[in-house]
Amino acid sequence: MSMETTAWTQLYSVTHAQRERRPLARATLRRVAAFARPHRRRIARFVLVGVATALLAVATPVLAGRVVDAIVSGGDADTVVRLAVLIALIALAEAALGLLGRWLSATLGEGLILDLRTAVFDHVQRMPVAFFTRTRTGALVSRLNNDVIGAQRAFSNTLSGVVGNVVTLLLTLAVMLTLSWQITLLALVLLPVFVVPARRTGRRMARLQSEAADLNAAMGTRMTERFSAPGATLVKLFGRPDEESAEFAARARRVRDIGVRTAMAQSAFITALTLVSALALALVYGLGGWFALRGGLEAGAVVSLALLLTRLYAPLTSLAGARVEVMSALVSFERVFEVLDLRPLVAERPDARDVPEGPVAVEFDGVRFGYPSADKVSLASLEEVAALDTRGGAEVLHGVSFRAGPGQTVALVGSSGAGKSTVAHLLPRLYDVDEGAVRVGGVDVRDLSAAALRRTVGMVTQDGHLFHDSVRANLLLARPEATEDELWDALRRARLEDLVRALPDGLDTVVGERGYRLSGGERQRMTIARLLLARQRVVVLDEATAHLDNTSEAAVQEALAEALEGRTALVIAHRLSTVRSADLILVVEAGRVVERGTHEELLAADGRYAQLHRTRLAGAGEPFAGPDGEAGPAGAAGSTAAGEPAA
Ligand code: ADP
Repeated sequence: MSMETTAWTQLYSVTHAQRERRPLARATLRRVAAFARPHRRRIARFVLVGVATALLAVATPVLAGRVVDAIVSGGDADTVVRLAVLIALIALAEAALGLLGRWLSATLGEGLILDLRTAVFDHVQRMPVAFFTRTRTGALVSRLNNDVIGAQRAFSNTLSGVVGNVVTLLLTLAVMLTLSWQITLLALVLLPVFVVPARRTGRRMARLQSEAADLNAAMGTRMTERFSAPGATLVKLFGRPDEESAEFAARARRVRDIGVRTAMAQSAFITALTLVSALALALVYGLGGWFALRGGLEAGAVVSLALLLTRLYAPLTSLAGARVEVMSALVSFERVFEVLDLRPLVAERPDARDVPEGPVAVEFDGVRFGYPSADKVSLASLEEVAALDTRGGAEVLHGVSFRAGPGQTVALVGSSGAGKSTVAHLLPRLYDVDEGAVRVGGVDVRDLSAAALRRTVGMVTQDGHLFHDSVRANLLLARPEATEDELWDALRRARLEDLVRALPDGLDTVVGERGYRLSGGERQRMTIARLLLARQRVVVLDEATAHLDNTSEAAVQEALAEALEGRTALVIAHRLSTVRSADLILVVEAGRVVERGTHEELLAADGRYAQLHRTRLAGAGEPFAGPDGEAGPAGAAGSTAAGEPAA
């Protein structure tokens, strides 16, 4: 980068950062220092190299002046040659120091990125599910990438910029003043003439640039949303392509206009900088020449002054904004620290325990729960809203109690929104209860270690999520040390063996969003295979509501029977077969268990369950607890009496 462009970049970042100016937090400074501490020896070396470079930079103009003096005074050739060799050596040393300095600043900066990035990733990973349901993934990823890099860049820029520039400036000015204080002062007078308007333009440009960044972000979001397969389908079905294009074009045009204006402002700035330096140079030659002719100044001093002057303006411009640059570094650091400071709502106790050996019972004891409000789990800046919602926290479960003995299956039924999934979420501790307790093997889940809970409680969701990776990798997630035989065994028991054998690359076929598309039933069986591999003793299962075809349905049912065998299970049941065979059925309505018992007991009681049973099961294959919570088509023509799916 040329000197002029560097100066522009610095000036720009200065004014850009001013927008976000905040009071300088001492605490932030201390934490930055803590992050820099492991690198302190390297920082010290870097500063030393900066000082040495600055010294060498001043030496060359002075030596050049000496050469001129030697020529003018008719000195000997030896002196001239010696000076020239010295200048050459200095140039070599400057080059070497430049490389060394770059290496130091690169390792420093990249080291800092590494530290910050791993810290943020590690921390975010530990956040509860509530955090991820609220946070915009894009905002989070940008925090991991942009802000971390922003913090690093500002850090090393500030370090190299401020330290190097202060030393260069002081030395250059000192030498110039000793040569001729009159000329030096006059040269400096020209500076504000150029800096003041430049800063004003810089501020305006910063505003435009941030508008362009917003527009670009909006266009990016629009494109990723519209160009995904489901998004594109939606546009095909309902979209207004002409309006969409017009809207997009308007934004793109504005970005073009801003681009042109920024380019013009930048070149105006650079022209002004070049012009002012050239004018100052003319001043040095004119005034210096005049002094020299009158015998007040050596000819060499005029040359030295001129050369020194060219090295004066860049550090001056960048130092003019040093304070703000420090601020912008701190802003980036603060944005990173903000994420690191989010305290996970669900956290492991220091003295966390393991689950007792053997089959385990599951117990809900007077559980009251409300989903946490946004301000408890997230950051406004990550949700891309001005302020977080403090509402929420309305109680969803009002005192739920039940017990599933070791190896027993408890089925949850009830209309949509009753709280069945919420009950299911509390068992693997995706959320913590507000009152009461959830116990696994007699131990409160809040007292268990995260690893113990993961080993003990497995969950099969309706729509098993697969990472964009091979079948093998997706399965190994459950048990990294599983052998090839164990993988095939799990696939066989999950009724997936034939399918995977038929895939183009077998176990190494990439599945997931952009890979080989598995059907809903196949995905669910894949999660069942995971469960069989992980061999968790407790299973939370959300039965599929979607109408699978008969083959798929039968396969899923068989696989589930395998998975539930000998395990303690909590099932959000949608099929009569599951409900019937459950050891205990809980009818959940509006966050309460309104009825409990076995299928026969509840039918005999002729209450809510019996009613659900009548309305839900009149139509063949109708789910027991539908997604809409409304009664199914009661008595639909052609329905079978039993309503049992072909399992
Ligand atoms: P069900 O599984 O029986 O259909 P849920 O447990 O999903 O019912 O929902 C129970 C209640 O909790 C509903 O009123 C729902 O709106 C609310 N709810 C569910 N998930 C969340 C969430 N992440 N944040 C806030 N409220 C939620």
